[in-house]
Amino acid sequence: MSDPFAAARPFAERLRHRLRQSSFAQHLHQRFRRWRAPAIDGSGTIGDVDPATVTPGTAIVFRCNLCGTPNAATLATLSRETRSCVACGSTVRFRAMAHLVTLEICGRPTLLPDAPAREDIAGIGLSDAAEYALTLAAKYAYENTWFHSAPRLDIANLDRARFGRYDFVVASDVFEHVVPPVARAFANARRLLKADGKMIFSVPFSLEPDTREHYPELHEWSMTDRAGVWTLSNRTMDGRQQTFTDLVFHGGPGSTLEMRVFSRAALEREFLRAGFARVRIAAEPYLPFGIYWPEPWSVPMVAYVR
Ligand SMILES: [Zn+2]
Repeated sequence: MSDPFAAARPFAERLRHRLRQSSFAQHLHQRFRRWRAPAIDGSGTIGDVDPATVTPGTAIVFRCNLCGTPNAATLATLSRETRSCVACGSTVRFRAMAHLVTLEICGRPTLLPDAPAREDIAGIGLSDAAEYALTLAAKYAYENTWFHSAPRLDIANLDRARFGRYDFVVASDVFEHVVPPVARAFANARRLLKADGKMIFSVPFSLEPDTREHYPELHEWSMTDRAGVWTLSNRTMDGRQQTFTDLVFHGGPGSTLEMRVFSRAALEREFLRAGFARVRIAAEPYLPFGIYWPEPWSVPMVAYVR
Protein backbone atom coordinates (compact mmCIF):
# COMPACT_ATOMS: atom_id res chain seq x y z
CA MET A 1 0.00 0.00 0.00
CA SER A 2 1.08 3.63 -0.37
CA ASP A 3 3.01 5.30 2.41
CA PRO A 4 0.55 7.62 4.18
CA PHE A 5 3.44 9.69 5.59
CA ALA A 6 5.19 10.40 2.33
CA ALA A 7 3.31 13.69 2.05
CA ALA A 8 4.40 14.79 5.53
CA ARG A 9 8.14 14.34 4.99
CA PRO A 10 8.76 17.38 2.78
CA PHE A 11 7.11 19.51 5.48
CA ALA A 12 9.48 18.06 8.04
CA GLU A 13 12.46 18.81 5.81
CA ARG A 14 11.26 22.37 5.23
CA LEU A 15 10.75 22.91 8.96
CA ARG A 16 14.26 21.65 9.70
CA HIS A 17 15.65 23.93 6.99
CA ARG A 18 13.80 26.91 8.45
CA LEU A 19 15.03 26.01 11.91
CA ARG A 20 18.62 26.48 10.69
CA GLN A 21 17.94 30.05 9.52
CA SER A 22 18.15 32.09 12.74
CA SER A 23 20.06 31.89 15.98
CA PHE A 24 16.89 31.29 17.91
CA ALA A 25 16.00 28.66 15.37
CA GLN A 26 19.52 27.23 15.63
CA HIS A 27 18.95 26.83 19.32
CA LEU A 28 15.72 24.98 18.58
CA HIS A 29 17.42 22.93 15.91
CA GLN A 30 20.14 21.83 18.30
CA ARG A 31 17.56 20.90 20.85
CA PHE A 32 15.75 19.00 18.12
CA ARG A 33 18.94 17.12 17.13
CA ARG A 34 19.61 16.26 20.74
CA TRP A 35 16.07 15.14 21.08
CA ARG A 36 16.08 13.01 17.95
CA ALA A 37 19.02 10.85 18.94
CA PRO A 38 17.54 8.72 21.70
CA ALA A 39 14.70 6.33 21.19
CA ILE A 40 11.42 7.82 22.30
CA ASP A 41 11.00 6.09 25.59
CA GLY A 42 9.60 8.95 27.65
CA SER A 43 12.94 9.82 29.27
CA GLY A 44 15.35 12.59 28.38
CA THR A 45 13.50 13.78 25.30
CA ILE A 46 13.43 17.47 24.59
CA GLY A 47 9.77 18.08 25.14
CA ASP A 48 9.77 15.95 28.25
CA VAL A 49 9.88 18.76 30.77
CA ASP A 50 7.49 19.65 33.53
CA PRO A 51 5.10 22.19 31.96
CA ALA A 52 5.01 23.99 35.31
CA THR A 53 8.64 25.03 34.71
CA VAL A 54 7.92 26.43 31.23
CA THR A 55 6.28 29.81 30.65
CA PRO A 56 3.37 29.81 28.18
CA GLY A 57 5.44 31.78 25.64
CA THR A 58 8.52 29.52 25.72
CA ALA A 59 9.07 27.59 22.51
CA ILE A 60 9.23 23.86 22.82
CA VAL A 61 9.88 21.26 20.19
CA PHE A 62 7.56 18.34 19.89
CA ARG A 63 7.08 15.58 17.43
CA CYS A 64 3.63 14.82 16.10
CA ASN A 65 2.95 11.23 17.08
CA LEU A 66 0.48 10.87 14.19
CA CYS A 67 2.75 11.77 11.27
CA GLY A 68 6.22 11.92 12.88
CA THR A 69 6.85 15.56 11.93
CA PRO A 70 8.89 17.78 14.28
CA ASN A 71 7.12 20.99 15.28
CA ALA A 72 7.94 24.10 17.28
CA ALA A 73 5.18 25.50 19.48
CA THR A 74 4.56 27.34 22.71
CA LEU A 75 2.43 25.95 25.51
CA ALA A 76 0.01 28.80 24.83
CA THR A 77 -0.61 27.51 21.30
CA LEU A 78 -1.11 23.90 22.35
CA SER A 79 -4.82 23.71 22.94
CA ARG A 80 -7.37 20.94 22.63
CA GLU A 81 -8.92 21.93 19.31
CA THR A 82 -6.18 24.00 17.65
CA ARG A 83 -4.40 22.39 14.72
CA SER A 84 -0.78 22.48 15.85
CA CYS A 85 1.14 20.06 13.60
CA VAL A 86 2.43 21.88 10.51
CA ALA A 87 2.23 18.71 8.42
CA CYS A 88 -0.95 16.82 9.25
CA GLY A 89 -2.82 19.51 11.16
CA SER A 90 -3.34 17.33 14.24
CA THR A 91 -4.76 18.83 17.43
CA VAL A 92 -3.78 18.02 21.01
CA ARG A 93 -6.93 15.89 21.24
CA PHE A 94 -6.11 13.86 18.11
CA ARG A 95 -2.56 13.23 19.32
CA ALA A 96 -3.81 12.27 22.78
CA MET A 97 -6.24 9.69 21.39
CA ALA A 98 -3.50 7.91 19.43
CA HIS A 99 -1.03 8.30 22.31
CA LEU A 100 -3.43 6.62 24.75
CA VAL A 101 -4.13 3.77 22.30
CA THR A 102 -0.43 3.04 21.75
CA LEU A 103 0.36 3.52 25.44
CA GLU A 104 -2.18 0.81 26.31
CA ILE A 105 -0.98 -1.55 23.56
CA CYS A 106 2.79 -0.96 23.56
CA GLY A 107 3.14 -0.06 27.26
CA ARG A 108 5.21 3.05 26.47
CA PRO A 109 4.89 6.25 24.42
CA THR A 110 5.22 5.36 20.74
CA LEU A 111 4.99 7.35 17.53
CA LEU A 112 2.02 5.85 15.74
CA PRO A 113 3.96 5.30 12.47
CA ASP A 114 6.61 3.40 14.49
CA ALA A 115 4.15 1.22 16.44
CA PRO A 116 4.61 -2.48 15.65
CA ALA A 117 1.77 -3.80 13.50
CA ARG A 118 -0.55 -6.04 15.51
CA GLU A 119 -3.25 -7.75 13.47
CA ASP A 120 -4.32 -9.61 16.62
CA ILE A 121 -5.44 -6.34 18.25
CA ALA A 122 -9.00 -5.42 17.30
CA GLY A 123 -10.18 -1.85 17.62
CA ILE A 124 -13.16 0.21 16.61
CA GLY A 125 -13.54 3.96 16.21
CA LEU A 126 -16.67 6.08 16.43
CA SER A 127 -16.27 8.78 13.76
CA ASP A 128 -12.54 9.01 14.39
CA ALA A 129 -10.53 11.72 12.64
CA ALA A 130 -8.63 10.56 9.57
CA GLU A 131 -5.43 12.05 11.04
CA TYR A 132 -5.13 9.03 13.32
CA ALA A 133 -7.77 6.59 12.02
CA LEU A 134 -5.88 5.78 8.81
CA THR A 135 -2.74 4.74 10.67
CA LEU A 136 -4.68 2.86 13.35
CA ALA A 137 -6.24 0.87 10.48
CA ALA A 138 -2.78 0.18 9.03
CA LYS A 139 -1.42 -1.05 12.38
CA TYR A 140 -4.29 -2.93 13.96
CA ALA A 141 -7.46 -4.81 13.04
CA TYR A 142 -9.17 -1.47 13.51
CA GLU A 143 -12.29 -0.23 11.79
CA ASN A 144 -13.53 3.35 11.85
CA THR A 145 -17.32 3.62 11.83
CA TRP A 146 -19.92 6.32 11.20
CA PHE A 147 -23.39 7.18 12.39
CA HIS A 148 -24.72 8.21 8.95
CA SER A 149 -22.68 6.12 6.48
CA ALA A 150 -20.99 2.74 6.11
CA PRO A 151 -19.40 1.13 7.94
CA ARG A 152 -22.25 2.19 10.19
CA LEU A 153 -22.42 2.05 13.98
CA ASP A 154 -25.06 3.58 16.23
CA ILE A 155 -23.78 3.30 19.80
CA ALA A 156 -27.37 3.78 21.04
CA ASN A 157 -28.58 0.79 18.99
CA LEU A 158 -25.84 -1.78 18.67
CA ASP A 159 -25.67 -4.83 16.39
CA ARG A 160 -25.13 -7.87 18.65
CA ALA A 161 -22.62 -9.25 16.15
CA ARG A 162 -20.15 -6.67 17.47
CA PHE A 163 -20.45 -7.68 21.13
CA GLY A 164 -17.20 -8.67 22.87
CA ARG A 165 -15.02 -8.33 19.78
CA TYR A 166 -12.71 -5.42 20.53
CA ASP A 167 -9.54 -4.78 22.50
CA PHE A 168 -10.10 -1.05 22.28
CA VAL A 169 -12.84 1.43 21.43
CA VAL A 170 -12.07 5.04 20.58
CA ALA A 171 -14.88 7.56 21.10
CA SER A 172 -13.61 11.12 20.87
CA ASP A 173 -16.15 13.92 21.25
CA VAL A 174 -19.06 11.68 20.22
CA PHE A 175 -21.00 10.92 23.41
CA GLU A 176 -22.18 14.51 23.87
CA HIS A 177 -24.19 13.98 20.64
CA VAL A 178 -25.73 10.57 21.39
CA VAL A 179 -29.50 10.51 21.91
CA PRO A 180 -30.61 10.07 25.54
CA PRO A 181 -30.56 8.09 27.71
CA VAL A 182 -26.77 8.28 27.46
CA ALA A 183 -26.37 5.41 29.94
CA ARG A 184 -27.39 3.11 27.06
CA ALA A 185 -24.38 4.29 25.01
CA PHE A 186 -21.96 3.64 27.88
CA ALA A 187 -23.43 0.16 28.40
CA ASN A 188 -23.08 -0.57 24.68
CA ALA A 189 -19.49 0.64 24.62
CA ARG A 190 -18.76 -1.83 27.42
CA ARG A 191 -20.48 -4.60 25.40
CA LEU A 192 -18.20 -3.96 22.41
CA LEU A 193 -15.14 -4.77 24.47
CA LYS A 194 -13.37 -7.99 25.33
CA ALA A 195 -12.85 -8.97 28.99
CA ASP A 196 -9.65 -6.91 29.18
CA GLY A 197 -10.75 -4.19 26.75
CA LYS A 198 -10.19 -0.47 27.10
CA MET A 199 -12.10 2.57 26.02
CA ILE A 200 -10.15 5.64 24.93
CA PHE A 201 -12.58 8.46 25.45
CA SER A 202 -13.03 12.21 25.29
CA VAL A 203 -15.93 14.62 25.58
CA PRO A 204 -16.19 18.23 26.62
CA PHE A 205 -16.98 18.15 30.36
CA SER A 206 -17.44 20.51 33.27
CA LEU A 207 -16.50 20.10 36.92
CA GLU A 208 -20.11 20.53 38.03
CA PRO A 209 -21.74 17.80 40.13
CA ASP A 210 -23.92 16.53 37.30
CA THR A 211 -24.37 16.41 33.55
CA ARG A 212 -26.73 18.97 32.02
CA GLU A 213 -29.06 17.14 29.63
CA HIS A 214 -30.55 19.59 27.13
CA TYR A 215 -33.39 17.31 25.97
CA PRO A 216 -33.95 14.65 28.66
CA GLU A 217 -37.40 13.71 27.32
CA LEU A 218 -36.39 13.27 23.68
CA HIS A 219 -38.67 10.71 22.07
CA GLU A 220 -40.14 11.51 18.63
CA TRP A 221 -38.25 14.50 17.40
CA SER A 222 -37.15 16.44 14.38
CA MET A 223 -35.13 19.55 13.60
CA THR A 224 -36.07 22.22 11.10
CA ASP A 225 -34.47 25.43 9.92
CA ARG A 226 -37.28 28.00 10.26
CA ALA A 227 -36.21 31.27 8.67
CA GLY A 228 -32.63 30.80 9.80
CA VAL A 229 -33.51 29.59 13.31
CA TRP A 230 -32.93 25.92 13.98
CA THR A 231 -35.82 24.47 15.94
CA LEU A 232 -36.11 21.10 17.62
CA SER A 233 -39.64 19.74 17.99
CA ASN A 234 -40.18 16.82 20.34
CA ARG A 235 -43.16 14.73 21.34
CA THR A 236 -42.40 13.19 24.73
CA MET A 237 -43.16 9.59 25.62
CA ASP A 238 -46.39 10.71 27.33
CA GLY A 239 -47.50 12.82 24.36
CA ARG A 240 -46.49 16.36 25.38
CA GLN A 241 -45.17 18.67 22.65
CA GLN A 242 -41.87 20.52 23.26
CA THR A 243 -40.08 23.13 21.15
CA PHE A 244 -36.47 24.23 21.58
CA THR A 245 -34.73 27.02 19.68
CA ASP A 246 -31.42 27.58 21.50
CA LEU A 247 -29.70 24.62 19.81
CA VAL A 248 -25.93 24.19 20.00
CA PHE A 249 -24.21 22.51 17.07
CA HIS A 250 -20.64 21.30 16.83
CA GLY A 251 -19.17 21.66 13.36
CA GLY A 252 -21.77 24.09 12.03
CA PRO A 253 -25.57 24.42 12.16
CA GLY A 254 -27.55 21.32 11.36
CA SER A 255 -24.57 19.00 11.59
CA THR A 256 -24.09 17.61 15.08
CA LEU A 257 -26.44 18.66 17.82
CA GLU A 258 -25.08 18.96 21.34
CA MET A 259 -27.36 16.86 23.53
CA ARG A 260 -25.66 17.54 26.84
CA VAL A 261 -22.72 19.00 28.71
CA PHE A 262 -21.19 16.21 30.76
CA SER A 263 -19.70 16.63 34.20
CA ARG A 264 -16.57 14.75 35.23
CA ALA A 265 -18.22 13.21 38.26
CA ALA A 266 -21.20 12.04 36.19
CA LEU A 267 -18.88 10.52 33.57
CA GLU A 268 -17.08 8.50 36.22
CA ARG A 269 -20.44 7.29 37.52
CA GLU A 270 -21.60 6.37 33.99
CA PHE A 271 -18.52 4.25 33.29
CA LEU A 272 -18.83 2.34 36.56
CA ARG A 273 -22.59 1.87 36.09
CA ALA A 274 -21.93 0.48 32.59
CA GLY A 275 -19.71 -2.25 34.06
CA PHE A 276 -16.25 -0.76 33.66
CA ALA A 277 -13.99 -1.62 36.59
CA ARG A 278 -12.18 1.72 36.71
CA VAL A 279 -11.63 5.01 34.91
CA ARG A 280 -8.38 6.90 34.53
CA ILE A 281 -8.44 10.67 33.96
CA ALA A 282 -5.63 11.02 31.42
CA ALA A 283 -4.79 14.67 32.15
CA GLU A 284 -1.03 14.08 32.23
CA PRO A 285 0.91 16.11 29.66
CA TYR A 286 3.25 14.42 27.22
CA LEU A 287 5.19 17.29 25.71
CA PRO A 288 7.43 15.14 23.44
CA PHE A 289 4.23 14.62 21.43
CA GLY A 290 2.85 18.10 22.05
CA ILE A 291 0.15 16.85 24.40
CA TYR A 292 -0.69 19.37 27.09
CA TRP A 293 -3.82 19.98 29.17
CA PRO A 294 -3.64 23.33 30.98
CA GLU A 295 -7.23 22.99 32.28
CA PRO A 296 -8.77 20.21 34.36
CA TRP A 297 -11.92 19.92 32.22
CA SER A 298 -12.52 18.11 28.90
CA VAL A 299 -9.36 16.02 29.23
CA PRO A 300 -9.26 12.42 27.89
CA MET A 301 -10.17 9.36 29.92
CA VAL A 302 -9.37 5.67 29.70
CA ALA A 303 -11.99 3.24 30.98
CA TYR A 304 -10.93 -0.32 31.77
CA VAL A 305 -13.17 -3.38 31.70
CA ARG A 306 -10.90 -4.87 34.36
ZN1 LIG B 1 1.29 15.56 12.34
